[in-house]
Amino acid sequence: MLTHTPFTAETRRQYLQKCFAVMEWLHDFEWRRPIYFRQPNFRERLRQQTAYREQLPALRDEYRAGVPMLPLSRCPYCQTLNYLSFDHYGLDGLWWRSDERWRNGAQQQLCPHFWTLSGAVKLAEAVAIVPFRSAPGPEVPFVVPSALREHPLQVVISQIQVGAHTAYPIAYFSETKPLTLANPFPEWSTEWAVWVQEHNRYEWARAPYLLFKEQADFDLAPWMAQGRVAWIAPGDPSFTLQQQVQTCPYLDLPGDQEFVLITNGIVSSINQKL
Ligand SMILES: [Zn+2]
Repeated sequence: MLTHTPFTAETRRQYLQKCFAVMEWLHDFEWRRPIYFRQPNFRERLRQQTAYREQLPALRDEYRAGVPMLPLSRCPYCQTLNYLSFDHYGLDGLWWRSDERWRNGAQQQLCPHFWTLSGAVKLAEAVAIVPFRSAPGPEVPFVVPSALREHPLQVVISQIQVGAHTAYPIAYFSETKPLTLANPFPEWSTEWAVWVQEHNRYEWARAPYLLFKEQADFDLAPWMAQGRVAWIAPGDPSFTLQQQVQTCPYLDLPGDQEFVLITNGIVSSINQKL
């Protein structure tokens, strides 16, 4: 934990530039393979493809190792501040990639009750054009009622800036583990449910992002009144847990409730994809 050295904005830019160059080359090669096949340097391209494929895991490790560990949430059971791998520099970071998990789970500082991370992002106007797909969620915080009904989970909502965007980490905590859901929901900006079970054991389940909207409830006040959802005020350096409905800054926020996908800088609703 102490050995972790997060990247700076500049080293992050360099890592991403290297990753994107390789990813774009591989994508282009696969896309145009029938054309390249007829060209004299095809064998050379094939060798390059092998080299880039072998290089990608190392690039991923380099990026993942640099992703900052940030205090995102506090546990309602033991009051521990939980530090998670999180790229807050921008949605162009590969942390946000939805089809592969470019996160640094091993170095996170989690209490025994942390279970999963969900979230929402209020998008600023411009979204970077990057060669991967992200699934940042809707623009306003929400909970998954089926999960809260199935288990005595506690949810904590907080706020953090991600580049120009305003993000809302939605952390789920549980006193009892392991636990599984009949209808798993995706981890933040991924296409799988990822749960931290007992003894820091990670468990994965398929959780299609396309079905997320049916699982979400944006009416947080009743859950808060029942003591199931707590919040941390934006910018609160003490990360104090609060439960009052009247003073909660996360209720009735302006923003779209559509779950979005971002592909090559284009934001689309998951409903448009269906
Ligand atoms: Zn705890």
